[in-house]
Amino acid sequence: MATMLSREPGPQLHLVDAPEPQAPVDPRPHVVILGGGFAGLSAAKALRKAPVRVTLIDKRNFHLFQPLLYQVATASLSPAEVAYPIRAILRRQRNVTVLLGEVTGIDLDRWEVVLKDGRVPYDYLIVTTGTQSSYFGHDDWSQVAPGLKSMEEALTIRRKVFRAFELAERETDPDRRRALLTFVVVGGGATGVELAGALAEISRQTLRDEFRTFDPADARILLVEGGPTLLRGYPERLTTAARRSLEKLGVEVRTGTRVQDIAPGRVRLPDETIAAETVLWAAGVTGHELGNDLGASHSRGGRVPVLDTLQLAAHRNIFVAGDLAASVGKNGEDLPGVAQVAMQGGKLAGKNVARLVKGKAPKPFHYFDKGNMATIGWNRAVAQIGPLQLSGFVAWAIWALIHIAYLITYRSRAAVMLQWAWAWITRNRAARLITGVPSTTDGTRTREELADIDTEARAA
Ligand SMILES: Cc1cc2nc3c(=O)[nH]c(=O)nc-3n(C[C@H](O)[C@H](O)[C@H](O)COP(=O)(O)OP(=O)(O)OC[C@H]3O[C@@H](n4cnc5c(N)ncnc54)[C@H](O)[C@@H]3O)c2cc1C
Repeated sequence: MATMLSREPGPQLHLVDAPEPQAPVDPRPHVVILGGGFAGLSAAKALRKAPVRVTLIDKRNFHLFQPLLYQVATASLSPAEVAYPIRAILRRQRNVTVLLGEVTGIDLDRWEVVLKDGRVPYDYLIVTTGTQSSYFGHDDWSQVAPGLKSMEEALTIRRKVFRAFELAERETDPDRRRALLTFVVVGGGATGVELAGALAEISRQTLRDEFRTFDPADARILLVEGGPTLLRGYPERLTTAARRSLEKLGVEVRTGTRVQDIAPGRVRLPDETIAAETVLWAAGVTGHELGNDLGASHSRGGRVPVLDTLQLAAHRNIFVAGDLAASVGKNGEDLPGVAQVAMQGGKLAGKNVARLVKGKAPKPFHYFDKGNMATIGWNRAVAQIGPLQLSGFVAWAIWALIHIAYLITYRSRAAVMLQWAWAWITRNRAARLITGVPSTTDGTRTREELADIDTEARAA
């Protein structure tokens, strides 16, 4: 006989009509965490000593250290150096079970998480599925201009960039070669600045002397930003320093320029159309679509509105943390989608669940801002830490130390330090591999990518 679940309002899960003898039902409240990013892992760790059983569900089996993802896209680091199995991270925490599964919805009436292939009941739910690239209503641009949110996208970018140089070596038509050697990065936030700086270094330093029919240093790298400055939110002194550093590296910076259209082989700006085979999207993100089940559909940036305790107003057993939450700082300002907000928010969500289980009131979120930083190639960065505004090498050294410190394992820290030391000495990039089988004549799309596009088109 099948086991039936019956739901009383309240945090306990009751089993009725139980079949033959089986493992005793665990009486502890069941906390389900969606997402094993910074927020989800912090929430799980905060529940270490709580009298609950925790299930963490992620569609990937690894935690991804997104702040260094651009280094995978630009071949400084390999995938395994910025990712680590979630199961291994939590192996010592006996009250956590890790499940690989893609969440497609949340059934608020039945207190169940809906997976592609099943359902998981919860007493408390912590949702931390983050954000996804947003193309401002132009979803077709995503097929031409990959964003940088996942490992797959990072590898797509790596393939596109290095393949463009390879194709240029064989190209005899000067216009077509020019297009192959033109790289446009859309979006002048930290990710766009980091990508553009790395592309400039690849063309000016890494690939020097390696090609015979053209000089890689002639590659054109454009950074296009719709707003008036790069790195919105940073002090003016630092945005100016960032721009100057990029220009020194050979990046053409266009601020106050909104992209009008992106199509294969070209980008249309208000005053000109640029022939470019490689366009990268770093212009915007929106809350993960799961947020729509939790009231995010009408909010700015697709983020889920939450109380100061990170609970949903209408469902106090549900918490949202990290990039997906529209949480606010002490002056009522929207908190940015950065790792520190996610880690601190996830930790509080976990602690608040533990408090509720013990019959205590949840606490409000007080974000402690440790600063912002963005790197511009080797040696240069900008950093704002409290009242300190730093640029150049000192900022870069602090950036490097902090990123090493926050990497999730000793193994990753050692591997990244070794790679960086080697790259520092040789100016080389160890992971310049073009993987995936190209099947189009221009070679920029793989069979897998075309199959994905085809599937999406048919679904649409
Ligand atoms: C390229 C890049 C560079 C960045 N650089 C910096 C930086 O330098 N400094 C900084 O502070 N911040 C940086 N950030 C932002 C920072 O990485 C995010 O703020 C942080 O990762 C948010 O954590 P999160 O836990 O909310 O979401 P995420 O880290 O995005 O984790 C979400 C998790 O949910 C899982 N998931 C998603 N959908 C589903 C589903 N349907 N079913 C199951 N699981 C799902 C994902 O697999 C993922 O593991 C950067 C981000 C990017 C993309």
